[in-house]
Amino acid sequence: MVEKKKKKTMTTSTGKPVDNDLNSMTAGEKGPGLLQDMHLLDKLGHFDRERIPERVVHAKGAGAHGYFEVTNDLSEYTRAKFLSEIGKRTEVFVRFSTVGGERGSADSARDPRGFAVKFYTEEGNYDMVGNNTPIFFIRDAMKFPDFIHTQKRNPKSNLKDPDMFWDFLSLTPESIHQVTILFSDRGTPKSYRHMNGYSSHTFMWYNDKGEYVWVKYHFKTDQGIKNLTGEEAEELAGEDPDHATRDLFDSIENGDHPSWSVYVQMMTPEEAEDYRFDPFDITKVWPHGDHPLIPLGKMVLDRNPKNYFAEVEQAAFSPGNFVPGIGPSPDRLLQGRLFSYHDTHRHRLGANYQLLPINAPKAAVNNYQRDGPMRCDEGGEGPNYWPNSFHGPDPDPDKALPDIDISGMAKRHEYPVGEIDFVQPAALFNKVMDDEAREHLIGNIVDHLIGAQEKIQLRQTALFYKVDPEYGSGVAEGLDISLDKVKELAEMSQEERVKATKL
Ligand code: NDP
Repeated sequence: MVEKKKKKTMTTSTGKPVDNDLNSMTAGEKGPGLLQDMHLLDKLGHFDRERIPERVVHAKGAGAHGYFEVTNDLSEYTRAKFLSEIGKRTEVFVRFSTVGGERGSADSARDPRGFAVKFYTEEGNYDMVGNNTPIFFIRDAMKFPDFIHTQKRNPKSNLKDPDMFWDFLSLTPESIHQVTILFSDRGTPKSYRHMNGYSSHTFMWYNDKGEYVWVKYHFKTDQGIKNLTGEEAEELAGEDPDHATRDLFDSIENGDHPSWSVYVQMMTPEEAEDYRFDPFDITKVWPHGDHPLIPLGKMVLDRNPKNYFAEVEQAAFSPGNFVPGIGPSPDRLLQGRLFSYHDTHRHRLGANYQLLPINAPKAAVNNYQRDGPMRCDEGGEGPNYWPNSFHGPDPDPDKALPDIDISGMAKRHEYPVGEIDFVQPAALFNKVMDDEAREHLIGNIVDHLIGAQEKIQLRQTALFYKVDPEYGSGVAEGLDISLDKVKELAEMSQEERVKATKL
């Protein structure tokens, strides 16, 4: 039998009991409202402010609580305490998302999926803010705002614009690897439970002797990879635009707790020096044959949020949230993200967003930050400066990142554009995909690229041709454009190709 809960009295936001919630106070039966109706003013005033700025990317998402458990002892490589012994569990909160769409957009959109994990460790929060793809479209943060603009709406028409989308990608050949994953069926995962997560970036792990290695994380779904075809995804967008949000919530509610097996790839600084790919270029993977996956742990999601806004909408992740034992790499996209995430949360949630329960570390926070809007803890007593003569808290020099020797010219170093950007998408197209996957890939590209101008189609198809002639020919045939022109363009340098397809 359901236990009857004692009814609570409704109150205003100041806790005053409310006498009536149906009728506003008026001057006479037919008269205007009265300013003294504090309950009405309180109710409307709060409602008017219910929305906060939408995330500029990853606006539509779903999240859940759970835990991470260490299954393999890699503590010789990292001093991170939450990774220190087999069996150790750490609470996590995970948010999955699409990237380009607005808060109400369809979960089944062709888009990378965000895969962000907050580990509430005893040494502070560690965030792994990854995607369901091991790579990304661009490798320098300088290009990020431009790239995102092209994936969103045309500023004049407020419509999605295939010209913008493909113009930028065809002018940015390093995107070809991620474009190939995006337009494969992995670009439309069946649900958040049926996809992998990757750090994509390279990170540093260091031990208490100051030795370090470079790592990449892989979260492999224990539910198995399952994807939607382009057609299924489009149908679902109309039938149930929230299908992935619903799937995650319902499965946890029904006791079917999704899990991921977590691995790392590891590379020594010596190996990184002359590795055949730039290990810090996020448009590249580290092939498994070179750097096999090493088991690390298991992540299980077993608890739904009680309130979506408080826990999912207000969750604030940052790839800059490290704990001792884990640090950044010189990846140029990561370096920009280290700034942008905190910055956007300060805009979206306010300067004290780390105090919100979903973001607050379980570890003690002792610092000299004071005040600011919506300070909702006790605020900290004196002293509010350091150094001080009143018992700290003091920094601990033992917690520093390892020293790294760096030299060179300070300038805007150009990234060499070259054939190496086509090597890995070629391996994906030829060795990893089967005939059906290749057919779906080409079909999905044609369905989208057909909306762009012919010169842009030709420029982009030449890039597919450079990956593999079968790939380029298939797209050219689907678009009904000249294969001879595509071949001609594929033989040119990027600079010549851009000139030859000038709009
Ligand atoms: P492997 O054959 O060792 O690995 C290929 C990996 O590709 C698989 O393990 C799987 O990774 C992933 N995969 C399988 N099907 C698809 C698909 N349809 N779309 C995207 N990824 C798929 O080869 P390499 O490590 O040498 O990599 C070859 C290519 O595979 C790379 O160039 C890259 O494009 C792609 N890839 C590589 C990954 C890596 O970290 N090395 C990770 C993912 C893709 P998983 O189990 O992680 O899904």
